[in-house]
Formats: sequence, C-alpha cells, structure tokens
Amino acid sequence: MADPRAPTKSTVLRGIAASPGIGIGKAFVLKEEALSYIFHALSREEVKREIQRFRQAIIKTRTDVLQTRERVLKVLGKSHAALIDVHLLILDDPLFKDIEKKIAQEMMNAEAALVAVLDEVGRKFDKLGDPYFRQRKDDIVDVGKRVMRHLLGHPDLQLSQLAERSIVIARDLAPSDTLSLRDDLVEGFATDIGGRTSHTAILAQGLEIPAVVGLKEISQQVNTGDLVIVDGNEGLVLINPPMATLENYRKVQEIQLAEVRDLEKLRDLPAQTPDGRRVVLASNIESPEEVKAALGHGAEGIGLYRTEFLYLNRKSLPTEEEHYENYRAVARQMLPYSVIIRTMDIGGDKLVPLGVTGLNTEPNPFLGLRGIRLCLRYPDLFKAQLRAVLRASVEGKLSIMYPMVTGLDELRQANKILAEVKEDLKSHNMAFDPHIAAGIMVETPSAAVISDWLARESDFFSIGTNDLIQYALAVDRVNENVAHLYNPLHMGVLRLIRMVIEAGQKAGKWVGMCGEMAGNPAFTRILLGMGLDEFSVPAAAVPRIKRLIRETSMEDAKKAVERIFSQDGVDGEGPILARIS
Ligand code: PEP
Ligand code: MG
Repeated sequence: MADPRAPTKSTVLRGIAASPGIGIGKAFVLKEEALSYIFHALSREEVKREIQRFRQAIIKTRTDVLQTRERVLKVLGKSHAALIDVHLLILDDPLFKDIEKKIAQEMMNAEAALVAVLDEVGRKFDKLGDPYFRQRKDDIVDVGKRVMRHLLGHPDLQLSQLAERSIVIARDLAPSDTLSLRDDLVEGFATDIGGRTSHTAILAQGLEIPAVVGLKEISQQVNTGDLVIVDGNEGLVLINPPMATLENYRKVQEIQLAEVRDLEKLRDLPAQTPDGRRVVLASNIESPEEVKAALGHGAEGIGLYRTEFLYLNRKSLPTEEEHYENYRAVARQMLPYSVIIRTMDIGGDKLVPLGVTGLNTEPNPFLGLRGIRLCLRYPDLFKAQLRAVLRASVEGKLSIMYPMVTGLDELRQANKILAEVKEDLKSHNMAFDPHIAAGIMVETPSAAVISDWLARESDFFSIGTNDLIQYALAVDRVNENVAHLYNPLHMGVLRLIRMVIEAGQKAGKWVGMCGEMAGNPAFTRILLGMGLDEFSVPAAAVPRIKRLIRETSMEDAKKAVERIFSQDGVDGEGPILARIS
C-alpha cells in the first residue's frame, strides 16, 4: 500500500487500452469503499421501523438509478442505458426481500442484513466462476453499495467532490460512478480491473475520454495529486513521469488534438481520390442514437444498421410498431442519405430469448440457427420486421439487407417472403417504396464463391469481413487463443473479396464492405484498388478513412493490388502489408 504522505516515484504501468487518446493531469484516487457498518441487535418493536428504513433506502436508490439512466440515455443512447436497466432489475430481485426477512427473523439492523445477504450471493456467484456471473456479481455489489450509502445517510459519491480536471483512478468504476462524474472534469480513467468490453471501457469510449483498464494495483500505487499520464492508445499509465517524458507526451497530445481538428475539416468534403474516383463512405450503427455521431463525423449514409438491439435485454419480442418507429426515425434523420437495414442476425454471439427452443444450447452457435436461417425457419418473426421496414420506406431512403446468406435458395426464399409482405401491404392500401433495394451481406465463403449467381438476384452486396474471415480461415472471431490467425490479408480472404467485387460489378450491382476491415486504415488502399464502391465503418473511423481515400490515387491503389496478386506463394500479413504501400 502506498504511503499517502510519500511522493510516488516515477513508474510506468501497462494495462489494457480501453479508450484511445492521451490524458494528462493530477490524479484523483477513488478509495475502495468498504461496506462498513456497525451491527446492532434490534428489539421486537424496532424491527418494523428498520424494515421501513430499509424500504426507504431502496426507494432512494431506485430514484438514483433512474436519474443515472436518464443521463446515460442522453449522453450515450439506448444500448448503453440497457446496462443501467440491469440495476433496476436487481432492485426488483427477491434478494432484497431476503434482506427484509433477515432483519425480521434475526432482528438485526438493515446494514448488517444487507452485507450478510450480499456476501452470501457473492460466494454463490464466485463458485460459478463464469465471467458472465462475475459481471452480474459486480452489478449486484454496485447496487448494494448504493443502498448502503442511503442507509448510512451519505449518499453522495466521493466522485461528486471532484472539483478540478483530473485523472480518475479507481479499483473499478461502476457505471453509476462513471456517470455521476462531470465528464468535462475528467482527463482520463485508469482502473485496476476491467477488460476491453467492461463497463468502464464502453462508457469511456462513448464519452470519448482516454482510458486504460486492467492495471492490477494502480489504485494502491497512486496518491491523489500525483501527476499522471493515461495513454489510451498504448495501454500505458505513467505516474509522476520525468519532465522530458511529460514534455514529449504533451507534444504528442497536441499533435493528436490537432489531427482530430484537422480531420473535422474534412467533414463536408467528398470521399474522392485525387484522380476522381468517388466512393460512398457510410457508417455502421447499432442503435438510432448513433445517427448523430455518424452525421457528425461526415458519414454519407448508414451502410449497416444492426437491428439486434431491438431484441436484446427484454422478455418479449419487439412489435411491428416498435420496429417501424425505429426505422422511421433513422430514415428521417439520415435524409438525404440512405440507410441499409440489416434484418436481424440473432444467433452466434448474439443470443436472445425469442421463444425459440434450443437456441442457447447449440454446440456451435456460429454454425447454427442464426441470421437468415432463423428468419426462414420462423417467417412470422421475419415478416414483422420486413413489414416495418417497408412501411418506414416512404419516410426516407431505406434498403433491406439479409445476413448470413450461404446460397441461392436462401436468397430466393427471403425475396419470396419480401414479395408476399409487399403484396399484403398493397392489398391493405398501405404505402411503401415499391423500388426498395434488397441486397445481401456476403459473409460466408460459399456466398463469395457463387457471388456471380447471387448478383443476378440481389440488388447489392455488402461484404461482411468479420464473419467472412472467421468462416474462410476457420478462426472463431471471439476466441483469443486463435486471434493471431485472424488475418484479413490472408490470400484466401483477399481472393474471395476480389471475386465478390468483380462478380457484383459485372452484374451492374454496387459492392460495399461493412466488416471492420473497411474501417482499418491499413487496408483502405487495397480495397480502393480492388474497386470497392462503398465503405461502411464505425462513425469515429469515417474522418481518417476519408482522408486516406482523398490522398490515394486509384493508379497507386491498383498497382498495390497488382503487386499483391502477382506474387506466387506469398501469404501472411507482413509480406502483404509491405506490398500495399
Ligand atoms: C460482418 O460479419 O462483417 C458484419 C458486419 O456483421 P456482424 O459483425 O454484425 O456479424
Ligand atoms: Mg456478420
């Protein structure tokens, strides 16, 4: 444990880069909050009052959670607010009834009963050992701490004491903590625990604040007031760095800020190469709230609207009206640009309770009943979504895209259902865009190989490299043990991509890419050179990809592609990357 009076010596810690950028400032160390209380036994008369006091604390906690939720919704949108919904569900959990029972039966004060029950739950979850349950335990403890603060009569977080711009250091940051901060006062976050997809990481990215997590003991190694650099690009935290390092970092920070300002200037310029090739640079979104960021960064459309969020964190299926309201809002906001709505790709890593049995127990969910397969098995699910997209199509420019197509038969069946839905709407005099485009994601090797046939019956292609690479290379996209084999530049992948672009364009159809590969600047040149018509990338990646497109001549890009494809027997990322430039 650091001696709080001694100045911390200069140290560099390596953690996990959770949110990019460089933050420099004085540390504000959030001390681990012990659930400390004094036990006292109650007399029979006191029990009723104690239960009332406990219920009051729950009511106050619920008010806090609802306020946090409001704030998350405003700042980060619906999908993040779902993180907070979990806390509301916890407050309704029978667990809190158990606490009341304990107060009554064991005649102990509410604080003691709360800690006893939380300890018991914690032990149960620890035994399960699964990371999912660990996360649930953290959520329960977070809610428990809030209830305790109300019981103890000091509901204010230490964080609300933050008065000047600081780097916030903590063992972990619960979502409630992160969001009770005034983000204009936070230069960066650094925490002991957490991974790339932890709450702190997700929230820091949403707030665009540099963050490093998984630093093990940083909260013990830093004192409030120490000078700290959070390098969210490299995953480093420097405590009381030497003057020369500090100066260097200040320069890098200045350069990066200037780059962001510079990139912002490109916002309204076209995604066009110096020799006149104009491509569409669109954005991927996962909820309507992200439209603002897409437009803010200069995206010219939504190339992939992942609609799974509509099905997540709920107990029943979304209604057609919910789908419709959603798509209508996005279509309107994006005008004059177009929005490609991908029909639901549930299954694989995105499991939800659909009332469909057996889905959660598939031995190989990535090869199971997901995407278009699920839609064709349960056409009513599919039709509700298609009807909603068609109805919303008169409010803006919408297209439909089917995920996980592997062959002609699936495409034909999907198009047949779409035609039936159109007929039905027509017979009920309901308006829709009769020319709405219906395309497919090319994300399975079989679809890529027969893309010449698929192109005749599909209005466009969008290459989903996230899955295409996983299936072509037999590398599970979420398994860190084989992450080093997940290589977008594998010749087996590049040939498939080239094949799809050529087949689509030969049939007069445009070909885009919405997998992560499209948003990686290292691949922009080769994708341009292969003739890609549309890039759909995360909103924050739009400016950087646009700059590259504007700096790369088609002549150079094509030469790079020729260099790569003319090599016999050359594969692997290194040798190919060398030939791109
Ligand atoms: C893809 O597979 O490349 C893709 C964009 O879809 P998702 O990441 O949603 O599977
Ligand atoms: Mg996919």
